[in-house]
Amino acid sequence: MKKNHRYLLAGMLAVGLMAADSSLALAMAEVPALDISAGGEAGTRGENTASAAEAGSGTAGDSPQAEAGDASAAAGGGSAAGVSPVVGSGSSAGGSPEAGSGSGGGSPVVGSGSGGGSPVVGAGSAAGSSSAAGPGVAAGSGIMDPTNVVPGRIDYFAEPVKNPTVAVAEKYSYESMASDLEKLKSRYGSRLQVNVIGTSWDGRNIYEAVLGNPDAGKHVLIHAGIHAREYMTPLLVMKQLEYGLEFYDRGSYGGQPLSSLLQQVAVHFVPMVNPDGIALSQFGLDAIRSEQLRQEIQQCYASDVSLGRTAAPLDRYLSYWKANGRGVDLNQNFPADWDMLSADMAPSYAGYRGAEPLSEPESQALANLANSRRWAATVSYHSMGNVIYWDYQGNRVQQASGEMTALIEASTGYRAAGSSGHGGFKDWTQIKDDPIPGVTIETGSVACPLPLSEYEDIWNRNKMVWALVAKYAMEH
Ligand SMILES: [Zn+2]
Repeated sequence: MKKNHRYLLAGMLAVGLMAADSSLALAMAEVPALDISAGGEAGTRGENTASAAEAGSGTAGDSPQAEAGDASAAAGGGSAAGVSPVVGSGSSAGGSPEAGSGSGGGSPVVGSGSGGGSPVVGAGSAAGSSSAAGPGVAAGSGIMDPTNVVPGRIDYFAEPVKNPTVAVAEKYSYESMASDLEKLKSRYGSRLQVNVIGTSWDGRNIYEAVLGNPDAGKHVLIHAGIHAREYMTPLLVMKQLEYGLEFYDRGSYGGQPLSSLLQQVAVHFVPMVNPDGIALSQFGLDAIRSEQLRQEIQQCYASDVSLGRTAAPLDRYLSYWKANGRGVDLNQNFPADWDMLSADMAPSYAGYRGAEPLSEPESQALANLANSRRWAATVSYHSMGNVIYWDYQGNRVQQASGEMTALIEASTGYRAAGSSGHGGFKDWTQIKDDPIPGVTIETGSVACPLPLSEYEDIWNRNKMVWALVAKYAMEH
């Protein structure tokens, strides 16, 4: 972050961003009025586009091609679209009117001119090959480089956790997470600290799990489960946490013993920002305890039906729920050009920004945490698209965000794309006072909620992300 070419790089990227913005404007003019969210930031608005199309079409539930439009939109803008085996396989043709609109600056690696050969190529094979990703497969990135092996330590994730606490399940619930955090605490003791950073409308805790030295010089913030139906991401980060704990003393990553890495960098996981929405998406209306909230949710349904935003029966509609328990899309509730989001929307399963920025206890909890200290980096987990969104208009930490993105691209095989939406957590953290370098990672290649069959690939591609980001933080 103290490098001299920072501003040169920022300038070059800004050109790309402007170009993307004009294509965004064009694309937005072409899409139907329903797509209030067309082409926007991927973690939020891009997905909303897909979901609106999905629910509005009357085929809610079986239109993965609608979601694929999300991925293809990203692929369209990316400079490496043709070479990524990941997006290529996941996105298919798409042909969505906003294709290309989500492109933003494309790959920061290519954008920065730092090498013609996109790391995506090597990374795709690394991620795809196996969970153990043989030594040297992604040597160019410095990850899994055989020269990085630490004597006496096993490479992180070279073997599975024996008798794991966190059980992989299609519907990894709030109750499972809360109980697993307790069990992990008793199993691994002082290496884990569990805090409650807030309470949802329906009275569920929002947990923060701190892996490593809480008094470390550097801190990384990783959150998941802010969008309800994307509930495979809480499972993913709980598994990341479990592996970090299990291999704390005997594992290494990128030539660095994990114990030493985690002494210098604490990794804070907020695995489930939106527990009410997730309970609703997983188990339906009965999972909501408050009678008033249940009524508000039914009002959302009536409103979305009357506006033509869904033609699905109630239970199916609820399974596609993305908002919190009051019908607010939490990732459009942060103060990042929030005024530019549609003011016409009512509470809904998706796409409603809320009455004002940070109107919800869940977004407040995350924002308070983000403002509570100086963070070295942040990662926001979403689904789907196999894409990394890393930029925002007015991004004050563009270089660090871009550098991390290049590393994550190389390690996961996901492709980088800019972002053009508003109100998202990452957007806000990149422009706020004391900004935080960061990325949004969109996991999965089919429509949400993701089937269990997606998990293994998502795990293999993302298991090392926390360590990679922590190591980046340690070195910068
Ligand atoms: Zn999302």
